[in-house]
Amino acid sequence: MLPWTTYEAMADAALNQPEAFWLEAAQRITWQQAPTIACQNRADGWHDWFAGGVLNTCYNAIDRHVEQGRGTQTAFIWRSCATKEQQVVTYRELQGRVAGFAGGLRALGVEKGDRVLIAMPTLVETAIAMLACARLGAVHVVVFAGYAAAELAGRIEDVAPKVIIIASCSFQGQTALPAMPILNDALRIAAYKPKACVIAQREACPAPLLPVRDHDFYSLEQSTPVAPVPVHSEDPLYILHTSGTTGKPKGIVRDNGGHAVALALSMPLIYDCKPGDVFFTTSDLGWVVGHSYGVYAPLLSGCTSLVVEGNVSASAMRMLCQDHAVKCLFTTPTQLRVIRQESRNLAGVLLPELARIFVAGEYAEPTLLGWARSYFQRPVVNHWWQTETGWSITAHFFGLPEQEPKALMNDIGRPVPGFFPAIMPSVPEEPGGEIALKLPLPPGCLAGVWQSGNIMVPASYCDESGYYYRTFDEGTITADRAVHMLGRSDDVIKVAGRRISGVQIEEIISSHPAVYACAVVAISDALRGQRPVAYVVVAPQYAANMSVMRSEIIGQVNQTIGKWVGLKDVHFVAQLPTTRSGKILRKQISL
Ligand code: AMP
Repeated sequence: MLPWTTYEAMADAALNQPEAFWLEAAQRITWQQAPTIACQNRADGWHDWFAGGVLNTCYNAIDRHVEQGRGTQTAFIWRSCATKEQQVVTYRELQGRVAGFAGGLRALGVEKGDRVLIAMPTLVETAIAMLACARLGAVHVVVFAGYAAAELAGRIEDVAPKVIIIASCSFQGQTALPAMPILNDALRIAAYKPKACVIAQREACPAPLLPVRDHDFYSLEQSTPVAPVPVHSEDPLYILHTSGTTGKPKGIVRDNGGHAVALALSMPLIYDCKPGDVFFTTSDLGWVVGHSYGVYAPLLSGCTSLVVEGNVSASAMRMLCQDHAVKCLFTTPTQLRVIRQESRNLAGVLLPELARIFVAGEYAEPTLLGWARSYFQRPVVNHWWQTETGWSITAHFFGLPEQEPKALMNDIGRPVPGFFPAIMPSVPEEPGGEIALKLPLPPGCLAGVWQSGNIMVPASYCDESGYYYRTFDEGTITADRAVHMLGRSDDVIKVAGRRISGVQIEEIISSHPAVYACAVVAISDALRGQRPVAYVVVAPQYAANMSVMRSEIIGQVNQTIGKWVGLKDVHFVAQLPTTRSGKILRKQISL
């Protein structure tokens, strides 16, 4: 039950009595030691949530539901659109598998605070590995399985994991892609070596295990179960890398307590989901939405989480929602575009259990939302997110009795409690500009960035006054408190909702010996929202060989980051527009 009936009452409570607001929200979590302080400033100028509180996130996600009689309820449904396999796991079964696997990790030497890197596609085993880390107080670092060896190596070096967990393969369409060669290449590139590797063998493509280094996932699951390890609220739960304004991805650190409270509040407030409801997230577990709404939020709230491996077609979407009585669907605008394209000649679908659909990650054109509403005959809304924030910054609040004004439905909504956006106009008196968020950020947001074993907040995250977090998104705020997005102010590109830094792609292209200079910008893509385009200046002696150069450049980007980046357009130009100081003017190119 929520204590507010209107958005205004809720927003005012969060603004005027933040301590009371968040301590009350904290009661949605079972603490070993309940916090008495909500937000506390840190010496480095950032803030901790619920300092003094002691809990275990895995206990809150699994054990307490079993203790409360939900043991036979389905916790997880996994379906593979690639292999057609499925798994259905109850809360009690999940408890057994997670506690056993945690025992296996402990036997490999994993203790509280150790990092464990998980490079797996969306599988139940991925969630089990994440939750087992949480059970031990270890820090999971999930890496998208589509990354190439160099990207994986970078993350291994960054977090120095004691153990690395992979599945023997992932799938691109119906094609199995063996993961062992990528792991072996990454371990050759990285100077750091883990203590052990764990392999979840898949029938389609079992991997040869190396003696001593490699261990079998399912054998480890049979280890002596371990109990949840109590951790401090501000102890890290996970690190998740994301692209920023610089080439090197940043490891966003999420705490335990703030994260659990924020996600537990979001389920009834934003998604209007109750224990037992089925929540379907199409995001890969390797991205932030997969972490928050594929694993933690549904389980913290006693819901059933449906996650899917592979591309979801229009007919698969209909079948999945029907078969599993999905109440809430969380997907991307790109996924809706795919369904629209495929279902051009189909009538709308009627899915009686489906209550509403949420999208995030990229701009959703009102025509797309309009189409989706008539196709599914349900409310469809977009809300604004960042990996850094871990949950939505603005949203539509289906859990409040008050109906939202219709005019807001096509945009990204109003601020979630605890987020106080302000516009930093680039041109004085202009209504638009970069959207900044007043500090402190609410619970659930980044505790900092992982830097050589420390958790720090880079200066670039704050504005000059030190009072605001910079989102690098531009927009406006209207009198009804609604936020409207205009786009990114930096070089981040969203490909099908996945974030990649243009600078990172430029660094790879520039490493080609023939490249003098290059700039990577985003262009609109009818299906995937955006895609990168490279403008390249090459040394004159290579000018005759443009088609070879083009395929070398694309090959280098695919090999270093992964094919999902979708670089197809490489334009060779005589020069790039620059400032007087020689900085490339990417904005001029994108115009
Ligand atoms: P990520 O960290 O991958 O979730 O990417 C965050 C970025 O995606 C944001 O800073 C925005 O640029 C963009 N983004 C996220 N949600 C939306 C949305 N609902 N509408 C438009 N852009 C969005």
